[in-house]
Amino acid sequence: MEKFVRIAAPNGKLDFVLKMLVLLLICGALNHLRDVLSNGFADRNTFLNNLMNATFTALPMCTFALLLIGHQSTLQKRLYRQATRDPLTDLHNRRWFMDRTPVVLQPNQALLIVDVDHFKAINDNFGHDAGDRCLQELASSLLALIRSSDACARIGGEEFAILLRDVALNDVQSIAGRISAGIKFIPVDGIVRQVTSSVGIAFDDTEQERAYALLRADEAVYRAKANGRARYVVAEPADGNDLTEPTLTTV
Ligand code: GH3
Ligand code: MG
Ligand code: MG
Repeated sequence: MEKFVRIAAPNGKLDFVLKMLVLLLICGALNHLRDVLSNGFADRNTFLNNLMNATFTALPMCTFALLLIGHQSTLQKRLYRQATRDPLTDLHNRRWFMDRTPVVLQPNQALLIVDVDHFKAINDNFGHDAGDRCLQELASSLLALIRSSDACARIGGEEFAILLRDVALNDVQSIAGRISAGIKFIPVDGIVRQVTSSVGIAFDDTEQERAYALLRADEAVYRAKANGRARYVVAEPADGNDLTEPTLTTV
């Protein structure tokens, strides 16, 4: 049904008129078929007559149906957006990330976890609204760093997950370096502050389960924190799917 609504919903005025014409034509053809079945072969004039009859009879119903389907489609899109987006940053949320990124990552795909450094201090020192604005600015900067084929989601309060596609380790490190260097943020007083992040990276030569990649990237974030924050850590290549703590390379 959702698919039907998506296809049938009018997309703009021209599409509305076109879909209306198709509907009326179908109604006219059915009307004519009924005439042929009950009265035998009918000529061209009868066909046009039947078409006109059906057009005027069906016009109000078809208009109503198209408006209703359009409304249903708008609601469908709004609900989908609400269920899959974070309202503060407008980034995708964790649910979307888990639904829409591959369950098994390919060798040219990297998974990054980003955790903002000392974010609580921003709230404590400048207020929750400043913290919110900081998250919004950070979200925009993350989107600016990745391509449209990549994926980025806010998966927790001040935590983000990124899936980079078709990348080499150099690219991953370059992006992670820029993310960890952070953004310039002016909370309230006109003084520019650098808000940095710690980034954990899971990137492998072989296929890996996304769940395992998340675990290792998360672990790498903690190492980045422990090593002084404002940096990234690449988890050592996964060796199979055992869940023992991976060795990590620190930058
Ligand atoms: P660390 O460098 O160790 O990551 O320290 P941190 O302060 O960033 O981490 P901590 O987990 O101590 O604090 C995270 C804070 O993020 C606490 C929470 O109030 C805040 N936070 C979570 N979600 C939001 C939000 O939507 N808006 C704002 N303003 N703050 C948020
Ligand atoms: Mg955190
Ligand atoms: Mg943090």
